[in-house]
Order: sequence, then C-alpha cells, then structure tokens
Amino acid sequence: MSINNYNDIIQKPNKELKKVGIMGGTFDPIHFGHLVIAEQIRCEYNLEKVLFVPAGIPPHKTEVKISESKHRYFMTLLATITNPYFEVSKIELDNDEVSYTINTIKKIKEIYQKDTELFFITGADAVCELDTWKNVKELLHSVNFIAATRPGLDSSVVDEKIHELEIKNNAYIRKINVPALAISSTDIREKIKKQQSIKYLLPESVEYYIYKHGLYVHRGETIVRLG
Ligand code: NAP
Repeated sequence: MSINNYNDIIQKPNKELKKVGIMGGTFDPIHFGHLVIAEQIRCEYNLEKVLFVPAGIPPHKTEVKISESKHRYFMTLLATITNPYFEVSKIELDNDEVSYTINTIKKIKEIYQKDTELFFITGADAVCELDTWKNVKELLHSVNFIAATRPGLDSSVVDEKIHELEIKNNAYIRKINVPALAISSTDIREKIKKQQSIKYLLPESVEYYIYKHGLYVHRGETIVRLG
C-alpha cells in the first residue's frame, strides 16, 4: 500500500455505520467462553460495544429449569464489569413475555440510531435450530448473525445447516471458531452438583456469587419456571 493510500484511510471521515454486538444467551452461568467470544468478535468486527442480553424466558426452554433472572443478570454484570466495551441489558428481563429474539432486536433498534449496524452473536448449536425461531427470515435480514462454534461440535453439520438456512432465507450467517468455548454452562452446573472445582472456568466474582447464593447445588432453590 502506498503512503497516499494509507493517508486516505486514516484521514477518511468516518461515515461508516456504528457497529454494536448483541450477545444473546441464557448465561446460566456466564463463563470465560462467552467473554472470550464477545471480545474476539468485538475486535474482529471493530464493534463499538457488546451488549450482553440475558434471555428472559427463552422460547425453547419454557419446560426447562433455569435460574432466576436476577441471578443470571447479576452474574453477567459481575463478569463484564472489567471490560469498558461490555454492557448488560435487562431488556428481556423486564417483562413476563416469552423472549423472542426478533422482538428484542426490534426494541434494540428503536433505542439505537439508524446509523447503527447490529451483530447478533450466539452459539452455533442455537443457530442450527433457527428454523424453529419466530420470524427467522425477518430476523436474519435485521441483524448480522454470528454463530460461535465450539470444539466438539461437528463442523460439517453446522456448515451444512448454516448453508441451508442461508439459501432458504436468502441471508448470510457468519461463523467464528473459538477454542475457549470448550467451556460450557451445562458442564459448570454439573461440576457444582458433583462438588468439583469450577476454578478458572469463569470469573472469580461469578464463582463466589454462585457459592454465596447456593446456585446449582440444590436445583429446587434456583428454579423459577416450569413452563
Ligand atoms: P442454548 O440452547 O442454551 O445454547 C446453545 C449453545 O450455544 C450452547 O452450547 C451454549 O453454551 C452456546 N451459547 C449460548 N449463548 C451463547 C453466546 N452468546 N455465545 C456463544 N455461545 C453461546 O441457547 P440459549 O443460550 O438459551 O439461547 C441463545 C440465544 O438465542 C438467546 O438469546 C435466546 O433468546 C435466543 N433464542 C431465540 C429463539 C427465538 O427467538 N425463537 C429461540 C431459541 C433461542 P453455554 O450453555 O455454555 O452458554
């Protein structure tokens, strides 16, 4: 690249769209895998910030036992507090409706200016189920979708599913591989039940929060919904 071209780049007025990441997940609990993904995507896509959106009542989990919203919200706050580019939104936690992502995105779009491009980041397993989500085509055309894959997931199955969704919905889904996502919330909950160490899998503040509130030890104490 010539010096002239270089100057063009650094002096160019910033007419580009602002980019904001939306990290959607149940976060039961949040762990280093989620944080590494968010930071990696923030840097890679030059995002102004990443908004963590703990799921209120996840549509596919109305029959499943998950921890109280307030605990998942506080753990997400604790985990993200040291990163100035991370924020946490209660947008899905402030009402009793089932949290369809399309509704959340519409609300977020009302908050941000039209000059903001949104990137929705979530797990590749969740993306593989996109066919079952509400208004999937509209959703895929409203935001840039990023699927984070983790070791153990069959990459060819994910690629095939993503390709199928892209063709069916005339959309583009980005995929990112993050080795640290070998950590999973399910595994952490299992370890706690078995009284095994969860050290270095999630921030210490979250670890202490879990112990202080007795989360995941006796499931009955932390269940709020059964559908
Ligand atoms: P999930 O089924 O619990 O998670 C699927 C996989 O993705 C798990 O391996 C999970 O790992 C991982 N994962 C979850 N969130 C992630 C993130 N932000 N980054 C990287 N990996 C992530 O999925 P979920 O957490 O309940 O739902 C994911 C998002 O999809 C939520 O925002 C939810 O509201 C939305 N969703 C919407 C609809 C709909 O609109 N109809 C339906 C389903 C899901 P961990 O267990 O370690 O997190």
